[in-house]
Amino acid sequence: MARCLVTGGAGFIGSHLTERLLELGHDVVVLDNMSTGRPTNLDHLSGHSHLTIRVGSITDPILLAEVMAGADIIYHMAAAVGVKLVADDPVRTIETNIYPTEVLLRLAVQGNKRVFLASTSEVYGKNPKERWTEEDDLHFGPTSRPRWAYGCSKAIDEFLALAYHRKFGLPVAIGRFFNVVGPRQVGHYGMVIPRFVDQALRGGPLVVYDDGAQVRCFAHVREVVEAVIGLVETPAAHGSVFNIGSDEPISIRGLADEIIRRVDPQIAIQYLPYRDAYGDDFEDVRRRVPDVTQLGKILGRQPSMKLGLILDDIIQWKRTQLAAGSSHSETR
Ligand code: UDP
Repeated sequence: MARCLVTGGAGFIGSHLTERLLELGHDVVVLDNMSTGRPTNLDHLSGHSHLTIRVGSITDPILLAEVMAGADIIYHMAAAVGVKLVADDPVRTIETNIYPTEVLLRLAVQGNKRVFLASTSEVYGKNPKERWTEEDDLHFGPTSRPRWAYGCSKAIDEFLALAYHRKFGLPVAIGRFFNVVGPRQVGHYGMVIPRFVDQALRGGPLVVYDDGAQVRCFAHVREVVEAVIGLVETPAAHGSVFNIGSDEPISIRGLADEIIRRVDPQIAIQYLPYRDAYGDDFEDVRRRVPDVTQLGKILGRQPSMKLGLILDDIIQWKRTQLAAGSSHSETR
């Protein structure tokens, strides 16, 4: 049994990680400021004798030091995330994603802790390669486009973590998440699947940005948290970066079709220019497909759940939510 700290533990991925760590018999402290995280994500775990929830910000260094003191393993999941939120508030993105990570890494070295650092496929920017491997170049757009603030801020985190590993031997594993999806993900910050599922269950139309030919790969959060835990528990993974996700590409138009087929074939698709969705200074990534060979090699497995099953799971969850009276729309 380990004592784990999950920063951002009330978030979408953080809450699934917390749940899994508790299932495995670990003690878990969640630190979350409930900005994009939601207390309801942990409702089903409330009262668990091995779970402590601290509401507060990772930008508070005293609180961070206090919660880290009691932990052996730190899962650093807290970040400003979501393309929409990042485009709307680049200052918050940079402040949340860079300085607290530096404080956390320093404290981890001093206290001999193991660390998992959550990073993102956004660090590749708009690299034109078909499949991205961990050693590929980072292709950011200009600083006048707020989108790139997110990937840049996470790239700095990675530089810091790797430097702490090299200089001080910090056991830190870094995971770059590729479009992680599943129950509890909300669409307010731009994420496409909860938005499409919500639109479909409300009778449509599904709003596809641009021409829908942009490509993504979607991985189920349950498989992703297994990889996260596996990496932190594998010493050979420390000091390295791993793509974490599915490597099965689908176009966004194809995704919309899959959801429509499952919910109601009569539902229409509406196409919306990027400009109307995100504003004038937005740039999309047209294709994002990971090479997950490294993850497969080190853990002996990689996310493999088929998109159809993932969509069934999310649609069923959302139906249950709607039936239980949660009427809030994902696409406000
Ligand atoms: N997208 C869309 N409709 C939406 C939200 C997103 O067509 O309501 C598109 C978006 O332009 C992008 C893809 O779906 O090309 C994935 O978007 P998301 O924000 O989920 O993730 P990311 O862009 O970070 O991969």
